[in-house]
Amino acid sequence: MTSFDFAAAIQARPSDADLPIALGRFSYRESPTQRGAVIPDPAWAGTHLVQVNLTQFPDFPTSSGRRVQHLTMHRQVAPVFIATMQLAQQRGLLKTLHEYNGCYVARHMGWTPGRPLSVHSWAAAVDFDAATNGYGVPFGRMQINKDFVRLMEECGWTWGGRWTSSYADGMHFQWSDPLPGTVVPTWQDAMAKTATPLKPVSPTPIKRRVFVNGQPVGVGRTVTDGVAVLLSKDGSAWLQPADGHEAAVAATGAVDGNSTRVTLLDQADVWVPFSGRAIYRGLMVNLNPTTYDLHVRPATAEERASSGSWSNLPHVLIGLQ
Ligand SMILES: [Zn+2]
Repeated sequence: MTSFDFAAAIQARPSDADLPIALGRFSYRESPTQRGAVIPDPAWAGTHLVQVNLTQFPDFPTSSGRRVQHLTMHRQVAPVFIATMQLAQQRGLLKTLHEYNGCYVARHMGWTPGRPLSVHSWAAAVDFDAATNGYGVPFGRMQINKDFVRLMEECGWTWGGRWTSSYADGMHFQWSDPLPGTVVPTWQDAMAKTATPLKPVSPTPIKRRVFVNGQPVGVGRTVTDGVAVLLSKDGSAWLQPADGHEAAVAATGAVDGNSTRVTLLDQADVWVPFSGRAIYRGLMVNLNPTTYDLHVRPATAEERASSGSWSNLPHVLIGLQ
């Protein structure tokens, strides 16, 4: 059990745009030795940053093979970070991580002078498992443990792994509201909505169903109107353009897992997570947010006229890598 008040912390969490105001503006100068790095006003750093003792989390991952004794974090963010790591430790999720890759780094986004400062400059973001979840690695190839990701999101952290295409940043968690235009999972901020900590995060008791043109389909590949719908045994669904060689036969195997994930191959050939309801290559794709049932059918003329095509949606993102 934790006594930390996640609801209050999430209530006070800044939006991405308000972050400099909420966590404190500071003056800085460009680093003369490292391109893209900045040197903040030491007075600001002295009053706004604190040390978090990491030895209280026995399974906290190492950095370059060495145990890390402490990290520097914004004083307003450190309490929720500690409470989140306590839960991750208790649930055996910290030991699923392979490496800690940093928190406080005063620098421009993407180490590019002229761009805004990264959230790491406020010591309000933390990176894990960079080797297999690097900047731009698509969702489908991110290796970071998804139960750990889910716990972070339940505790109010925004995960960069939900940012699309070239902005994807699977190693990165930051203390801000989710960015506008990004996918928000149903469990985001769940700790603020429950009086007691949630039960262990997996498995969920949901067995999702997938319908193509109103007909339930089983595990395997179903082709409809030029789109292949793949339903995996674990329950995850994958949509991509059909290559023209598949037979349009209904798949029949039974789902035995609880995955509720839906992933689409976008116009840039990148696998990205999907939620909600949108048109994809002329098909209306609708993911029920409660049951996770997925419906795929041709979009009507009105739907085509009134809603933006998913594949044409701008990747509305403020890159905060
Ligand atoms: Zn980061």
